[in-house]
Amino acid sequence: MHSPGPQTLFMSLGKTKDIIKHGRERFEQAIKASGSRLCSYVERVAFLMDRSKSPDDNSEPSSPTVNINLGPSANPNAKPTDFDFLKIIGKGSFGKVLLAKHKSDGRFYAVKVLQKKSILKKKEQNHIMAERNVLLKNVKHPFLVGLHYSFQTKEKLYFVLDYVNGGELFFHLQRERCFREPRACFYAAEMASAVGYLHSLNIVYRDLKPENILLDCQGHVVLTDFGLCKEGMEPEETTSTFCGTPEYLAPEVLKKEPYDRTVDWWCLGAVLYEMLFGLPPFYSRDVSQMYDNILYKPLQIQGTKTMAACDILQGLLHKDKKQRLGAKTDFLEIKNHVFFSPINWDDLYHKRITPPFNPNVAGPADLRHFDPAFTQEAVSSSIIRTPDLAASCSSATDAFLGFSYAPNEER
Ligand code: AMP
Repeated sequence: MHSPGPQTLFMSLGKTKDIIKHGRERFEQAIKASGSRLCSYVERVAFLMDRSKSPDDNSEPSSPTVNINLGPSANPNAKPTDFDFLKIIGKGSFGKVLLAKHKSDGRFYAVKVLQKKSILKKKEQNHIMAERNVLLKNVKHPFLVGLHYSFQTKEKLYFVLDYVNGGELFFHLQRERCFREPRACFYAAEMASAVGYLHSLNIVYRDLKPENILLDCQGHVVLTDFGLCKEGMEPEETTSTFCGTPEYLAPEVLKKEPYDRTVDWWCLGAVLYEMLFGLPPFYSRDVSQMYDNILYKPLQIQGTKTMAACDILQGLLHKDKKQRLGAKTDFLEIKNHVFFSPINWDDLYHKRITPPFNPNVAGPADLRHFDPAFTQEAVSSSIIRTPDLAASCSSATDAFLGFSYAPNEER
């Protein structure tokens, strides 16, 4: 049982990647085993909406024919056949994100496709349905992904999002092991700006992590997944739902204690730490050791970082949420920290600061920054291989409608 020492932090890129991957897998297993939920913001919609069928809330839905109120984003005229689905660009726990080209306007979108069935069979409906849907609010910010509209078929929900093709922050971080301070400062500032905005709407993001942080074609941050956003939390309000990304779980979340918006500042600290050091804070290959480290181990900052960087990390990763940076005046405290003194926040918001890295994408169809494991998978075959989907496809008439590469036997 030991914490990551300097040798861990400075190991080869390949090994670091393996360890991160290994750690992430183990965490996911641990989280699954603990019965907690990890889902994305559009996935949550299914829980949040009124179902046209009278819900027998504690029973498993027998058929996926429920109609879901998608709120103001609903486009009743849209249908899957409006799109050519080209590539899988990501997978979440309930569905996939596909690159799609709209047949009539020729534009590219990221379409998130979720199975109603797999969402509705989750146990947490009662709890989550008590919340209100983030998507129903007019959430618009330069560093939050834009939702164009949504629609549904008998079995699926479709969310038509901006296609963001500069790659996941995590993808770039893995390639470069860690970022220099000015680059990390720029990304952290754009994330903080988005989180501060969500907080101003009483939304807690809760799921800030590299996989949910994309870069646009210019290199600006786009947060894609409002996964565990919890709406309606006034500054003093707390919640005790066990949610979050395993690597970045704040101590109060791990302890299943009530938590509040300061959980997002912990996560920002965790992302900033990982950007600067290449590994999450309190990292250990041993999951229970890492939990232990998060709860009890003082933060150790190795290497040659500036005082400002060390101070903000200590502040954001304070185990006591009441003493954490951001606990008093929220985003204002973050904004005013010396680490962000190079940032003109008004320029940042208006994208007048040139990003420190240009993803160099040729155009909207350029997939060079996405994980080849996803982008090389044919759309139709990956859908069939998903057990849940395979089962539901036998009865579904719309399962492959609109998928350009649907196999003949399924058409
Ligand atoms: P999610 O299920 O929302 O966590 O998304 C899974 C993965 O799909 C993300 O980690 C991204 O790599 C990718 N992704 C999600 N939304 C978009 C988007 N709007 N544009 C491009 N890629 C996306």
